[in-house]
Amino acid sequence: MDLLIENAEQIVTCHTRGRKFKAGKHQSEIGLLKKSSILVENGKISWVGKKLPRGILRKNLLKIDARGKCVLPGFIDSHTHSVFAGDRADEYSMRIKGSTYEEIAASGGGIRSTVKAVRKASKKELKDLAGRRILTSMCFGVTTIEAKSGYGLSAAAEIKMLEVISELRKELPVDIYATFLGAHAFPDEKTREDYIDEIMFRMIPAITEKKLAVFIDAFCEKNYFSVNETKGIFLQGVKYGLTPKLHTNQFYSIGGIKAAIECGAISVDHLEVMKPSDVSALKDSGTIACLLPAVSYFLDIPYAPARKLIESKIPVALATDFNPGSAMSENIQLTMSLAVQLLKMNIEETFNAVTINAAAALGVSDRIGSIETGKQGDLLIFDTPAYSDILYHFGVNQLWKVIKRGRVIC
Ligand SMILES: [Zn+2]
Repeated sequence: MDLLIENAEQIVTCHTRGRKFKAGKHQSEIGLLKKSSILVENGKISWVGKKLPRGILRKNLLKIDARGKCVLPGFIDSHTHSVFAGDRADEYSMRIKGSTYEEIAASGGGIRSTVKAVRKASKKELKDLAGRRILTSMCFGVTTIEAKSGYGLSAAAEIKMLEVISELRKELPVDIYATFLGAHAFPDEKTREDYIDEIMFRMIPAITEKKLAVFIDAFCEKNYFSVNETKGIFLQGVKYGLTPKLHTNQFYSIGGIKAAIECGAISVDHLEVMKPSDVSALKDSGTIACLLPAVSYFLDIPYAPARKLIESKIPVALATDFNPGSAMSENIQLTMSLAVQLLKMNIEETFNAVTINAAAALGVSDRIGSIETGKQGDLLIFDTPAYSDILYHFGVNQLWKVIKRGRVIC
């Protein structure tokens, strides 16, 4: 059935006016409409405005009265590690008591423990866990999500993770985009060279043949993958049709951003540590800067220089980076709250960062991320008359309805 959302107090359209993303001062423009309505036909937005088109009410429509409420585009979480097994609560407890990373690793914690748990888990176990987490994300307003592999670190286990994502995509009401992150860390049982060979010549061909991922990612950082290793892996991925995204500049600036842009990366993610040369490399590149403030909060590390990036006209997206080690929260509204308070982004920049710019970080801003005619009917209705209340009244989920392709899903 088609859907009419009537008399919303505010509609935050995040309109694009044909742009792929919003940068600089445009990142503050949210295209606010007051006391307006939205019509969704065949899953797509067919009309937005004040005075209903003639004859519309004679149609068989599901009508939602949004008086006193505000409507936004569905949120897009463009960076998550939602598929994992095991938990690292003990590690968290040790960390807040002051244990060092080395002590935690020695006691069996860290990414190694997640890899062990993922290898041991059956596909069904992984799927049940990830499915529940993605539904939690949805309850906070996420209608499109990205999910990565990267806790398998062997061809079989990486493929198992990506198959879980592929099955969930068919079963859950949200859109899910898969990223192959074999280059997340090095497995204990292989040499560095052997593992990179396995990624390039075994995993990439197998994963692309089965169409299990659209993006390829790596952790380009001191003690992880070097700039040259990252480039080699990315170029091989591109050859097989994958689009690069990169974890980079979390702890050190080693040249990951420039390398990612050279390989055609759609986004560079983290960016807590930025040299002036990193900012100039990003400028005018069209690559989205995806910031993950929940990681800085959870690990107590510096926050990304969001203001510097926005002032340099670089499009900024925000994502949760939901994962068991460094950001154990599916709540994208918490990420938004941290962005306002700690990245010093204004409320409007923050909304564009989880809608249109996040859509651009997944290469789908022509279809989702704003409330405009022809776009997918992915909408959120909040039980508050003003969009600013969503962040002002922090820590409370005021979401009233989640709508995916014109259908109420939550
Ligand atoms: Zn991540």
